[in-house]
Amino acid sequence: MHVLNPALESIGLALPNLGDIDRQTITGAICTGTHGTGAHRQGIAAAVTGLTLVTADGSVVECSAEQHPDIFQAGRVSLGALGVITEVELQCVPAFRLHARESSADITEVLADIDTLVTDHDHVDIHWFPHTDRCLLKCNNEVATAPAGRAGQPLPSWRQALDDRFLSNTVYEQVNRLAALRPALVPRLNQISARALGARQFTDASWRVFCSPREVRFTESEYALPRHALRPVMAELRGWIAAERAPLPFPVEVRFAAADDVWLSTGYQRDNAYIAVHQFHRMDGTASFAAFEEIVTQHAGRPHWGKLHTLGAQQLRAAYPRFEDFLAVRDRLDPDRVFANDYLDRVLGP
Ligand SMILES: Cc1cc2nc3c(=O)[nH]c(=O)nc-3n(C[C@H](O)[C@H](O)[C@H](O)COP(=O)(O)OP(=O)(O)OC[C@H]3O[C@@H](n4cnc5c(N)ncnc54)[C@H](O)[C@@H]3O)c2cc1C
Repeated sequence: MHVLNPALESIGLALPNLGDIDRQTITGAICTGTHGTGAHRQGIAAAVTGLTLVTADGSVVECSAEQHPDIFQAGRVSLGALGVITEVELQCVPAFRLHARESSADITEVLADIDTLVTDHDHVDIHWFPHTDRCLLKCNNEVATAPAGRAGQPLPSWRQALDDRFLSNTVYEQVNRLAALRPALVPRLNQISARALGARQFTDASWRVFCSPREVRFTESEYALPRHALRPVMAELRGWIAAERAPLPFPVEVRFAAADDVWLSTGYQRDNAYIAVHQFHRMDGTASFAAFEEIVTQHAGRPHWGKLHTLGAQQLRAAYPRFEDFLAVRDRLDPDRVFANDYLDRVLGP
């Protein structure tokens, strides 16, 4: 996607929304239901209007809403289970700029006012530091005309290097290494990280604002939840983290997306809030991910297909109204399970 985004910009186009990074292949992003944030914006798979698929017997199938519509509905978020996608057609929008406003905020106040916040801003992204009341609040808005002054300019390259490379990656890696050596220090380290959050505003091409470098390695579990479940789930999660003094140096991220019609999309016919728990890769996240999963599955959570979760086909069948329809397409296109693997056996069944 880091090739696609500037290529689209060069012809005056953009994808309507993007995730946090641009290192994925477009098919990997589509097949796992990758999403960005924005209560009125859908995930990347919803921008797909046509697919070419090479199926298990070597056939080349072109599909869209009109042509083989069932393969199209199943094929967008398909986890590689239906065949190899060789071509995608994407509904783009005219290239646009985003005004970014990032600031430190009180997580309780942000959540109390969340409905207004996501209505008033196109893309709201929240990074809450466990064991603190603070979060980094990012509000990005699409602009026809950039605001006046510095807020209407891209970040100077030195500031970008300082904030996004040095502080968010180089320094942050060292903070996390210290956390891995001394997990008991995590609450204090998070207080320091949260206090270091600065405010900034800038305007740039959409993809430059949506995506940033992520060099500190981590593991992650992310669940989509009905919007009304956000506050209770966050309250339960914060309670568990505090009670267990869970050593989580990475922020918990909260995002939003609008409902779509893609059969296995986390957004299938549901406006979602997303909550993601991260753990530094040198630290064990098992207990935190398990506690998180236990909470979210009580609130109709749907796991991100490309991140950590332990659900199997039986639970996923209950979460996705079109699960059986997806399996029927899979049975038709790959009866001998040429594309099966351990993960697919677990989440879709053998
Ligand atoms: C640092 C980081 C940040 C992330 N940020 C976000 C985010 O902001 N939002 C979000 O939703 N997700 C995010 N993700 C998750 C990420 O978008 C997905 O894991 C994505 O699938 C990775 O793309 P990939 O190209 O590596 O795919 P792979 O891991 O290679 O493949 C993913 C799936 O797609 C299938 N697939 C890939 N190519 C094809 C093809 N040509 N035909 C058929 N099937 C195919 C594979 O079989 C597999 O099932 C992030 C991941 C990382 C590591």
